[in-house]
Amino acid sequence: MSGILLVVSGPSGVGKSTIIEHVIHGDAVGRLCRFSISMTTRAPRAGEIDGEHYFFVDEKAFLRDAEHGMLLEYARYNDHYYGTPAEPVLRSINNGECVILDIETQGMFQVIGRMPEAVTVFVAPPSDAVLEKRLRGRGTEDEERIMKRLEAARLEHEHISKYQYIIINDISDKAAHDLAAIIRAECLKTYRTIFKEVRKQ
Ligand code: 5GP
Repeated sequence: MSGILLVVSGPSGVGKSTIIEHVIHGDAVGRLCRFSISMTTRAPRAGEIDGEHYFFVDEKAFLRDAEHGMLLEYARYNDHYYGTPAEPVLRSINNGECVILDIETQGMFQVIGRMPEAVTVFVAPPSDAVLEKRLRGRGTEDEERIMKRLEAARLEHEHISKYQYIIINDISDKAAHDLAAIIRAECLKTYRTIFKEVRKQ
């Protein structure tokens, strides 16, 4: 494996997507990075595009792919399935790219079980109160779903020590800078041939 498999987890609403977007489109190291588009059975939110944010599928299609071994990992989260299509991830890694997975904790454990060289990052909110405010401010979930997501966040937080890196998302520009710094440091590991690519920048 010449590229990097980067797993980013953290509670729903913490701002992972914004940070990842910043790195891919706003940092020099972003040109080495690809975002892994997950499959999900949940409905698209306003503004979400099929094939860009997620592949939105029904449960039958999801479970068929899972049974055929086409997913690197998958999990059920808040009554819906989420999973990572394996083929594009493996192709990018073999091309020496850094593939970024935005997945929850159960998925992270499956990934490191299969690919122990994966790099794992947990994005945490500065406080529980800030997370709750952000989730409510997003206005995409009803009260029941917000409470479920906050409970899931508490459970995910218990696994924080299993991650190699932690980023506190207080200011998203700074958090994106931290994520880019992790990628850059990982690129500089001597055993990665990707090192040559970084030197060209
Ligand atoms: P949301 O519904 O807010 O987009 O995502 C809910 C949770 O599912 C987030 O914590 C996100 O990281 C996680 N997630 C998104 N895609 C995947 C995936 O492919 N696999 C797993 N295990 N979790 C995912």
